[in-house]
Amino acid sequence: MDHIKELSEILNLDVQRVKSLFRSHVLTTSFFEKSGFFSGISALYRFDKASSGYEKGTLIAITEDEGSIFRGYPKIRRAMLLGPAIEKRFPGRVVVEEKLNGYNIRICMINDRIFAVTRGGFICPFTTEVVREGNLDEFFFENPDLMLCAEVVGPENPYVQKDVYEVDSVDFFVFDIMDRRSGKLLPFSERKELCENHGIKQVPLLGIFEKRKWKRILEIVRELGERGREGVVIKDPEMRVPPVKYTSSQSNCGDLKYAFTYFNDYGSSFVFSRVVREAFQSVELGEDKDELRERCLRVGESIILPMVESITRKMKGDRITEKFRIRVKSPETAELFERYMRRMGLKVHFSVLEKVDGRYIVEVEKLMSSTDDKIDSILNGELW
Ligand code: ATP
Ligand code: MG
Repeated sequence: MDHIKELSEILNLDVQRVKSLFRSHVLTTSFFEKSGFFSGISALYRFDKASSGYEKGTLIAITEDEGSIFRGYPKIRRAMLLGPAIEKRFPGRVVVEEKLNGYNIRICMINDRIFAVTRGGFICPFTTEVVREGNLDEFFFENPDLMLCAEVVGPENPYVQKDVYEVDSVDFFVFDIMDRRSGKLLPFSERKELCENHGIKQVPLLGIFEKRKWKRILEIVRELGERGREGVVIKDPEMRVPPVKYTSSQSNCGDLKYAFTYFNDYGSSFVFSRVVREAFQSVELGEDKDELRERCLRVGESIILPMVESITRKMKGDRITEKFRIRVKSPETAELFERYMRRMGLKVHFSVLEKVDGRYIVEVEKLMSSTDDKIDSILNGELW
């Protein structure tokens, strides 16, 4: 609570209000250590929930001579029926982009150094190392008040590992540029031009469509699904109205499969909306009996099979863990990232496997305690 005055000025809220945000844990400190990685920063604060006009995940960095705010990325709502949603929500033509399946970061510059901030408002040491390889300095020296909102994808990252993109390890693709103070998103054409001028990669553009051509978008999503891709985000070219997302059945099922492998950690809140989506999608696509049956099988299998697998795994004496690999330039990044994950309350174990082309391959094993304990207790005769 050292920076009440600074926070009150940056947030434009009175001191009493800031104190009350602290008391209710809406405003809290964010992961920070006094080390070279954070040099020049004296403290970091974040919004754990949306409040007082600030989004969840808003980050405030206090440095020696100033404080800066980095607004949270807004929630993107989902269309259940594509046709009616597009018709109702967009004023005119729509930009359709691929929705990449990875994790959301905001890239910003603090005290002349680039950092990657997670959705929740934490500076992630692993992702920061990744984005610092992206030649972004020129962009930020010219545009210190902007943030790049990007999706990090690839098979070697700590959050969402997908091997369906042409990415060997990890990479990031910008989908929005935000004014860090106001949270306003730039119009599509401005974002495109800025990225192109600075050689920054963006998410794939699938086309710009008249609203009445929405069936073509539905078709695109079906094709994406067949290629293991997630779906689309539909945007107003001027960003006057909030974007809308829509995903393929394969991607919904992929999520279910993951959630039910670790059913007690992720399961219940997850299923309802995903099952509802499947029904609306089937109706909108006008599926026949066979197609519908195939969908039912796909959904059912995504729920039951991974649970059966986890139960058998446990019966064999294995613990329910998730394993993934990351690749880092320096061992310090791995060490800092391990401390970061533990601070997030995760039970992780890091082992450095080998050094390849100047990078350390690290295997991370994450214990899914809740699912692990639950299966254990049921196997020992406990009741639900
Ligand atoms: P939310 O719906 O609150 O944004 P979520 O975790 O439920 O969060 P998703 O279902 O993955 O998110 O959908 C929104 C996210 O999709 C964005 O926050 C962003 O990270 C990601 N994304 C991927 N591609 C795009 C894109 N082309 N445009 C916008 N967002 C994209
Ligand atoms: Mg996502």
